[in-house]
Amino acid sequence: MDSKLISDYIDNTVVELNKYYPELLSCIDVEDVKSQLLSSYSSFEDFKVYFDEYVKNSICDFLNINIDKQSKKNLSFKYKVDDLTLSIAQKLVNDTQGLNTNIDDSKVKTHLGIDDCKKIVLDFFMSINQSDPVFASDVYNALYNMKVYNHPGRSYTNDKEIVLYFNGDLGDLVAIAHEVSHAIAKKHDLKLSTKIPSDREKINNRNLLKEVESKMTESMFLRYLYDNKIECVDDNGYSRMMSDDDLDYMLLSSMSSGINNSKRACDETLFKKLYYSNKDKVTPQLLDTYANSEILNDVIRNSAKIKFIIGCYFSKDPSFDYSTTFVPNNGKNLDNEIRFIYGNIIANHFSESFGCDKKVYYEYLINGKYHCDINKLSSLLGFDPNNKDVLVDNYLNTYIDLNKRVDRQLSMDEEKGINRSNVRMLVRNENGFVSTLVLCLVTGFVMGAVAVLSYIFIVNK
Ligand SMILES: [Zn+2]
Repeated sequence: MDSKLISDYIDNTVVELNKYYPELLSCIDVEDVKSQLLSSYSSFEDFKVYFDEYVKNSICDFLNINIDKQSKKNLSFKYKVDDLTLSIAQKLVNDTQGLNTNIDDSKVKTHLGIDDCKKIVLDFFMSINQSDPVFASDVYNALYNMKVYNHPGRSYTNDKEIVLYFNGDLGDLVAIAHEVSHAIAKKHDLKLSTKIPSDREKINNRNLLKEVESKMTESMFLRYLYDNKIECVDDNGYSRMMSDDDLDYMLLSSMSSGINNSKRACDETLFKKLYYSNKDKVTPQLLDTYANSEILNDVIRNSAKIKFIIGCYFSKDPSFDYSTTFVPNNGKNLDNEIRFIYGNIIANHFSESFGCDKKVYYEYLINGKYHCDINKLSSLLGFDPNNKDVLVDNYLNTYIDLNKRVDRQLSMDEEKGINRSNVRMLVRNENGFVSTLVLCLVTGFVMGAVAVLSYIFIVNK
């Protein structure tokens, strides 16, 4: 009598499992299991009690095998989120509930090549300070000591060079400016010793504040692209200038990492607590508590998070040390990721209170004392380091406001049938902006390099 209910329930569960645990399903004959269950149960309620428990146990077995495979020892978390960061993260998560935080920065496409992008970034940094030849050569060196891969990945800057994953999206152009600012700031970082106690504190601060320069750069750079009337061409061949909506979208995308990393900080802290109170590794009870839900699909989704966390923390390199050797373990440990929470809220304060002031930005970028001393940084940017509430509240206000505007715009576009996903960007050659870009485009890289060099030469003079 309940066979339709039973059959649908199995089908829905299979769909969910397939999303998160295709490995689990690959060795099961679903139709066979279904016919067995249908012949064994006539009441949906009886079936559900058995089936939910069965699925949870299967997931637990799967996760436990994963734990055993990846770690011969006990699960140990090297990274700890401090209480202050956690309270900030929790506030950010609570106050943005229900908002879309999956703001994909590769949504806006460009057909700019890597050389065009480098030239735009070079012009941007020269607009910050034209009269410092050392700064100019630092920017130039960062841009032209770059390893570029044309496949997806997360770009980073190590002690030698920038490693860039480039697909020609607007987000990739922003990533270049982001990484170049890391490279410049890195050069000006103070030389610190791990043996001196006061230096150790500075090293900790520096690690926590490492995204401040790059998030400030993103805010400034996006406004620069907008102010300099970057020209966009959509799929239908209509050309338009970078609009307020594009700016909103990209700013929101840049800010969303603060929210997403807050979610992760809260999730992982909860998981750690639960894990340590359930010493027998993953159990159906742990999954239940973690999922905090009666609904099996929620349990499946949330146990996928456990799988992700296990994958992250059982990496091959448990001695991963961010400060000395930057292994591009990008996104794999929270210690690395929580920097975006601070980077975002401080960068937002900078753009709200200082209107992206070039002098303040430059002063910050080339002064190592601001990179590793929260008190010095706060005196430069005028906030109270002991009271981050104001920073967090302002960040939330900006974020929620941007989110509403972007949401409204996206639904309007949908009504009009506009596809914003394939926008081509060109740079308009006016007001002296990027005067050498057309040259680069027309005569290719060699001439482009000559033009860039002569630009640098003029700046050096
Ligand atoms: Zn960064």
